[in-house]
Amino acid sequence: MKLRSSDHCGAAASDKLPVHKRPAIGGVCAQCGSLGFKCITAPAEAASPQEVWVATQAARLLATPVDSTFELADLQSGLKELVDRTYDGSVVAASLSSGLARASVHSWVAGARPGLPWLLQLCMHAGADPVALLGGSFVALPDQALSGRQYEVLPRDYKFAATDDATIRQRLTEASQAAEPPSIREFARECGIHVDTPRQRFPAEVTLLAAARKSYVERLNEERYQAAVQAYRAAAKALAAEGMTIHIKRVQERSGLVAFSQHRSRVRALRTVMAEFRPKEEEEAGQGATRRKGSVSALAPNPC
Ligand SMILES: [Zn+2]
Repeated sequence: MKLRSSDHCGAAASDKLPVHKRPAIGGVCAQCGSLGFKCITAPAEAASPQEVWVATQAARLLATPVDSTFELADLQSGLKELVDRTYDGSVVAASLSSGLARASVHSWVAGARPGLPWLLQLCMHAGADPVALLGGSFVALPDQALSGRQYEVLPRDYKFAATDDATIRQRLTEASQAAEPPSIREFARECGIHVDTPRQRFPAEVTLLAAARKSYVERLNEERYQAAVQAYRAAAKALAAEGMTIHIKRVQERSGLVAFSQHRSRVRALRTVMAEFRPKEEEEAGQGATRRKGSVSALAPNPC
């Protein structure tokens, strides 16, 4: 079964917390604050044989005794043996057939330090035991089911590499048609390009994206506003039914929705609901002896 990264959040973008308010607590999603990552509702996925292989070999490496050290020179001689026995001595063949960059294995044999994902990638293709390899010798793994398979242990992130015009233009168009169109700033960050680049080079596409973003944000705010109005209204009604005075603090407590200043739609919704309930309350108060003077009572026309 595949484990998820703690960066993974299943909540909608609208439910994510502002960056400076994100908690750093074990078992709590930092992005949306849900306990036990309840935001992730997608079913668990089975790991592929390749993923299981990588996990198993990484675990074996972790399980090596703490006093054993791996020397770079040992790895170099292990790699030489591997290349000789599996790839007829060709470091280029070793790199290319295991899906690595052309010069990778050559540079490792020459003394460069390989990253673990790429070393494992080579070992999977060669059917080699990575622990033995780090110890200086080529040992074939007992299970050769995955030998000869090319598998990218750490998939390359092409998003950052693809900054040519055609790709950016296409991604801009895709972004403006997305269900949750990003802002220009978010788009630029995701592509790894300067924030001004899209506007300078693709003004037409940027206009489309900006319009899509604007209507998305407006729709989102309206949805949030309507949801908050409903929650506040229900809370105010419940308070009224209990004969309690309806005031801002109580309505927020009862509804469980706090109208922080960064939740502008909540603030607006609270104002709407208070305006619905306040006048009546003031009106009733106005009929009594304790009529208060103030701006709010001005909202309720005096029946007299
Ligand atoms: Zn989350």
